[in-house]
Amino acid sequence: MRPHLRDVPIPDLPAALRAAGLRKPDFWARRLAVRIHLHGALSWEDIAADPEVGPRVRAALEAAFRMGPQLEHAGARVAEDRTRKDLWRLAGGQIVETVLLRNRKGRTLCVSSQAGCGLGCTFCATGRIGWTKNLTPGEITESVLRAQALAGERVSDVVFMGQGEPLQNYDAVMAACGNLHHQHGMSISHRRITVSTVGLIPQIHRFVADRQPWRLHLSLHAAKQTTRERIMPIARKNPLPELLAAMRSVQEQLERRWLTFQYVAIPDVNMDDEHIDALERELAGLRYIINVIPWNEMGAEYRPPSWAEVKDFTTRLRRLACPVKIRYSGGKQEGMGCGQLSAEQIEVAASGGHLLAPPGIFTA
Ligand code: SF4
Repeated sequence: MRPHLRDVPIPDLPAALRAAGLRKPDFWARRLAVRIHLHGALSWEDIAADPEVGPRVRAALEAAFRMGPQLEHAGARVAEDRTRKDLWRLAGGQIVETVLLRNRKGRTLCVSSQAGCGLGCTFCATGRIGWTKNLTPGEITESVLRAQALAGERVSDVVFMGQGEPLQNYDAVMAACGNLHHQHGMSISHRRITVSTVGLIPQIHRFVADRQPWRLHLSLHAAKQTTRERIMPIARKNPLPELLAAMRSVQEQLERRWLTFQYVAIPDVNMDDEHIDALERELAGLRYIINVIPWNEMGAEYRPPSWAEVKDFTTRLRRLACPVKIRYSGGKQEGMGCGQLSAEQIEVAASGGHLLAPPGIFTA
């Protein structure tokens, strides 16, 4: 099948266009990249709106590539705090989300890298639906561009913390990051693109060997192997000592001043002094920030911590002498918070394909 034009990474466009028989492939690569990855062209008509694209060039492109939207907008919801969630239906019918969060420094878009996830973390809604598909680079970048256009605000930061484990879809995610960062795309700074992993050791080593410039956050959630295995089954294949050695190489070889560890705070699971001792012991020698994410209700066996429990936990974390942030989980009342993505997909499946949200909240 012909490749989709949006799936061709920007650096590979000149070679792909040369192979398609276009003369001046560098010139066309530049024009097409701007059209697709900056202006968000969705169709051949959008491409042909460029006055330079005559019938001969369009015919050559159509013979070699597919074009058109890869996502269908399936609904949107805006929370009281103005966090916005958009639902996107893929060609196979799966639904993925983007969530736009507002903060003082800009607009952060949380994107999905897979439809569902096969890793089954017990605190995460996405883990309950299982993996169905890896998103392509074009699907990822289209979700960013269209979410930005619908919100009418420029996306300043992109975080891969939506559905899926991004490092399981390594090539597509890295290509999408490259397109988002590219000067002919959205020109998002490499420091404002974050890939978040639950800790796949071989892929972290690959990330280091490839000298990827993006931020890499580790969803640590516990510095005790037994607890990690309990809440993240993938931890059995990715033991803590080797995982932290891989993160050490991220810090040393990629010269990252700070490592960021995400820590979903779940009462009676990972918030006691024993877990703080383990953090102190296992992370010794690293320079790191801990992002505490109070666990959001999504129907699992756990209970969300109260604000007093979160404050007490972060106070006790002070002895680690590292920066500790409590991560604001925008839109959690409306199912948009961390770990809640996909709850609606479960509802969609359970309802035979129709969103169960009250009428008027979702707008297609
Ligand atoms: S936390 Fe991430 S890796 Fe774990 S099940 Fe959810 S999406 Fe998958």
